[in-house]
This record gives sequence, C-alpha cells and structure tokens, in this order.
Amino acid sequence: MKVDLIIENGAVVTSTGVMKTDIAIEDGKISALGSRSVFPEAEKVINAEGKIVIPGGIDTHSHFELLFMGERPPENWDVASTASAIGGTTTTIDFAQQEKGKSLMDAVKTQFSRAEKLSAIDYTTTPILTDLSDLDKVLDNMKEVVDYGIPSFKGATIYRKVGWYENDWQLYAVLRRLKELGGMMSIHAENGLIGEEMQAELIKQGKTDPKYHGIAKPNFVEDLATQTCMMLAEVLGTKTYIVHSTTREAPNIIANYRRKSLPVFCETCTHYLVLTDDTFEPKFPKGILYMCSPPLRKKEDIEALWKAISDGKVQTIGSDHVAFTKKQKEDHCDTFADIPNGFPGCEVRVPVIFSEGVLKRGLSLQRFVEVVSTNAAKLFGFYPKKGVIAPGSDADIVVLDPKEKRSLNAEDLHMGTDFSVFEGMEATGWPTFTILRGKVIVEDGKYVGNPGEGEFVKGKIEDDIIKTV
Ligand SMILES: [Zn+2]
Repeated sequence: MKVDLIIENGAVVTSTGVMKTDIAIEDGKISALGSRSVFPEAEKVINAEGKIVIPGGIDTHSHFELLFMGERPPENWDVASTASAIGGTTTTIDFAQQEKGKSLMDAVKTQFSRAEKLSAIDYTTTPILTDLSDLDKVLDNMKEVVDYGIPSFKGATIYRKVGWYENDWQLYAVLRRLKELGGMMSIHAENGLIGEEMQAELIKQGKTDPKYHGIAKPNFVEDLATQTCMMLAEVLGTKTYIVHSTTREAPNIIANYRRKSLPVFCETCTHYLVLTDDTFEPKFPKGILYMCSPPLRKKEDIEALWKAISDGKVQTIGSDHVAFTKKQKEDHCDTFADIPNGFPGCEVRVPVIFSEGVLKRGLSLQRFVEVVSTNAAKLFGFYPKKGVIAPGSDADIVVLDPKEKRSLNAEDLHMGTDFSVFEGMEATGWPTFTILRGKVIVEDGKYVGNPGEGEFVKGKIEDDIIKTV
C-alpha cells in the first residue's frame, strides 16, 4: 500500500509548535505526522529541507467579481483564485452581495455558480446585507443560510449611497437574530453619518483630491463605530467580527470587550500594515489608486497594529482584495468620494505578512499561522477540517521558502488588474508548493491545477472552538 504524498524534512508549524516532522497524505487528508521511516512508500515525495511548512492560508476577506460603486473588475474567479494559490492561500472567504429585492440565499447561489465552475481554491462566502426594506423577511431568511453552512453575515455602518449601510436599529435586530442562530456578524465599522457628511462638506469646499479621503474619515470615525458595535455585541452576546480595523485604537477597543470573555474579534488587512496615507499624493498617477475604506493611516497606526497582532488583539489578516483597474479608478476620479474603493491583494497577503511580520518584526511562526490561517477556520466554523496540520485535517499545505524574494510589482504578479499598490516593494517568503486537499496546485511559483477544483467549505461555528481564538 502506498500513500499519495509525503512531505519530508520541513519545519512544520503545528497547533502546538514548530517541529521537524514528515507528513503523510492520503485521499486529500493528512494521514500521519512523524518519521518517514515508518510511513508506507509514497507516489510523490516533496523534500522540504530548509522550508517552512504551514497550513494553507485562509483569506478572511476577498471580493471576487464584486460589483461596487458602479464598477465590476474584469478579473474572474479563476484568475483571482489562481493568484491566491500562488500566494499560499487555499481557502477564501468571499462576500456575496444581496441584490435589491432578492434574498440572501439568492446572493449565495449567484456567487457559488461562478465559484463552482472557476475556483482554483476552496471557498465559502459571507452574504452582505444590502436590502433590509423587509427586515422580518431577511431575518427569517438568515436561518436558511446558516443551515446551508454559512454562519456569517456582513453589515456596514457606512456606505449609505451604495446601499450597504445598516442603521443602529437594523444592526441591533440582525445581531439579536444571529444570537438565536449561533451565527457571527461581520461589520465594516465607520460612522457613516459623520464620515459621509464630512466628505460632502469637503467636496462643497472644492477639496476633492484623494488626500481628503483620510481627512473626511479620521481615526475617531472608525473608533466610534467600533465602540458602538462592541456595546451592541455586549448587550446581545452575539459573536461580532470587526472587519479591516485600521487604527491604533481599534484593537484596544475590541480587546476591552474580549477581556469580559465576549466573543468579539478584530481583523486587519495586509495594506494597513504596510502603506500610509502619504500614498494619497500626488493625485495622479497614483493617489487615486489608493482609495480604500477605511482609509490608509499613519506609520504609528501601522506599528500599533503589528504590536496588536503579536499581543493577540488582532485575530486575523484578510486581503480585502478587489481587482479594479487603473481605468476604473480614473473614470470616477472627479472627487475622492466617487472613486471605487478597494484594490488587489489576495496574492501577496501571506508573503507580505511573513516578510514584514516574521522576518522584519520577529512575529512568531505560530502567531503568523494563527493570523493567516488557523483563526479564520475557527471563526468561520470549519476547524479542524482546515487551518491546522494534524492527522484527519484536509491536506491544505504550503511549503514556504523563507528565502525566496519576489517583487510586488503588477507585472510580476498574477491578479487580474494592471496596477499594484505595493509597486516598488519586495516580499521575502513565498510558496514553493501550494497543496489543496493533497493535490499540488502550485509548484515553483507556477499554478499547475485546474480552475474549478475548489469546493465549498461548509461552516458551523462551535462555541468551544471559537473560545480558543
Ligand atoms: Zn471588503
């Protein structure tokens, strides 16, 4: 009898530490850890000497094929998910946008009809609530989605114009319902009234350049909304996950509630750990490309976020990938408030966190793995199927070369767009192999799988697992 694959001689990051161990893989699952000498023969052997072996990355925040602020990126699921795989991500938690007049389940089905055909990696989704005109109906519909294996929903306290906004009552009602259903609410926390009125005031004064994006929505606009969400989470006891926190204060606001043993969590994104608001100038050729919400912040926020990651106050790092093109940004650049928010990043997430976190700031390998993979699986209800290297888990594995240096320029990356916000930068630490359920899909930096192999990962949040995040 033979096993399918053995990975030998690597430094393997397991849930308990980093150890030199070999890994046997059979039928898409990890069958054993230990010494190769006691394993059966294998069809294929990967020698991971000098490499770091981690569970496949799980991106908590991607927007593939998103229609937003009047634009849909030309990048399709296959391109985005292939780029993710090249960058060491084997599962993505995407967002499915509810259409006006349609149900949440319709949004999921539309999203999955694309993913099923085209995804190179495994996936699930978080429906974005955009039509609460019949609130009771939506609350009712949430059960169907949870029963289907999707336990998280997304709301926003901003974006009134594009229809993503929930008012305090709607947020309260949704959180109350999710408490009953055992689900988790993901929230984009920025105070929409202050942020958007401030935008309008600046624009009226002729202050339309990208740098006013940050001035319209300073740290306190985000912190205020984060605080409101935490108070609602405390009152209702609902699992609450703040997406893309960017300020030096936000992780502390959330940590104050975690200290009371509440199930509240903080995500940040790759770009908030690297880029500052200096990038907003000049407007052309680059300022307009850096529009995202919340806005990019200061160097002090970046260092505070890194500290919060190692202190355990930030639990996950997503990419917030949206692959708009330069032209799509330029077409709306009369005022900063109309430029489609978001930019590409799914491919660089794991390497940038390794490079900037582990290599530059001494982030432990264990913590690195928690924030790029393990915690996401626990939060979204599919641990230990994914997010860990252990017998019985899916063999989603990245063999990472800690010395491999690559440029982050658009022409060297594989995402479906024509610019990179990381232009001119490099990251050290890239996957030599990315393995999805036992199958090598990236080898020596090249995608060797077939798009469409990715599968839907069902989730059900377990209280005793989420407690360990
Ligand atoms: Zn997003």
